[in-house]
Formats: sequence, structure tokens, C-alpha cells
Amino acid sequence: MRQKDQTAPRILVVEDEASLGELLAYNLEAEGYVVERAERGEEAELKLLEHSPDLVILDWMLPDISGIEICRRLRAREETKTLPVIMLTARSEENERVRGLSVGADDYVVKPFSVPELLARVRALLRRISPERIASRLSVGDIELDRESYRVRRSGRDIHLGPTEFRLLDHLIQKPGRVFTRAQLLDAIWGLSAEIDERTVDVHIGRLRKALSRATEADPIRTVRGAGYGFDDRFQK
Ligand code: CA
Repeated sequence: MRQKDQTAPRILVVEDEASLGELLAYNLEAEGYVVERAERGEEAELKLLEHSPDLVILDWMLPDISGIEICRRLRAREETKTLPVIMLTARSEENERVRGLSVGADDYVVKPFSVPELLARVRALLRRISPERIASRLSVGDIELDRESYRVRRSGRDIHLGPTEFRLLDHLIQKPGRVFTRAQLLDAIWGLSAEIDERTVDVHIGRLRKALSRATEADPIRTVRGAGYGFDDRFQK
């Protein structure tokens, strides 16, 4: 089985037609996304509360809560207000399309659709909404991270990181200035199911810090007492 990449964008597919849900999950995983599925509206709501994905593919007609209603609720909640949503529907009338977009869906695909077409929409939406999630290279200040070659450099010199430190840096560097709690980092780097002590985060942050900075260089990692860790946003200036 393919190992789940915790830094890959996560996509929730909400579709009650099992064969279509499977087809989508299969193709999205082949593109490198981490996919979760829900077949009913309530199940989707639970998954959205427990772990917000980077994008939702949402069927309009579901057996319990409609896709429209789920989308409306997503937009009403602060944490999911800007979560990218692609609606799937069998309805092709223009007024239905307008209704879908008016509750806040970012894009709208009419069934039957071609899988490559949907994949292209997913890529386009992720690129538009959060380019840092899919860029192959990220750089802040004099630190550069290359996701394809798994290399990190600072001021041109190679920095050697273990896989966990690499994922930590990848996660922090995407949102300079934002502070993540230990629980959020555990969830993002090790995954929800991991039963790992929060102090493990401190250990890996310590290693990352040590690897990144020579004696005279600024420490790009910020420790916020009682809160967690972040990538220093003043570091880039
Ligand atoms: Ca349906």
C-alpha cells in the first residue's frame, strides 16, 4: 500500500453513488492527493468537523443533508468559510448552477463529467486558493525547500533533515507568522490516528532548529509559550 503523504493536499469526496466515489478517490490518489470519502451528508459533516480538508468535492443530491445545505453551513463557519468546494450535480439547468454558486461553491461540474476534466478543476482551484500547497518549491528568506528533490537549503548550503523535520518545516513554512499548537502539528505531521506524546513535537522542533541555524544566523522558528510553534514572519524581511 502506498504510504500517505501528510503534506499532500487532502480532499474530501462526498458522493453517495459508491462507484463514482470510488472512481474519484482512485484517480485523486493517483494524482498524489490524500483522499477521504463520505457517502452521506451527516458523515461528511462529522469528517469536516474533525479534520478540515484542503478541498471538498460535494455531490448536490445526497440521501440526508443536501450538498447545497452542507455548502451553506461550511460558509457560515469561520474555520471553513474559505474552504474550496466543487459541487457535482446531475442538474444542468442554468438556474440550478446559479443556485450552487450562490451558496458559495467555488466551482460546479455537471454529471456525467470526464475525470480528467474534474482533476483539472481540482488543480486549478487549489492553485488559485492556496498556491503554497502545491508549489514544488517554497522559499522564505534565505531558506528554500524543494518538495520534488526533498532538499532544503539555507543561503545556498544544503541542510540535512530527517523525514519528520522535513515535513515539519514544509508545514510551518507554508504559513509564515501563524502559530500552530502541538496538537495541530501532531495531527498534520503524524496524522490523526497517531498516539504520540505532544513532547515529541518539541524534540523534532529542536532538531529542526539545530539543523537550520548556524551560530550567527537568525532562528526562523518561533516558540510561543503556552501556544506552540511557528515560522517567524519577520524572518523573511
Ligand atoms: Ca447523489
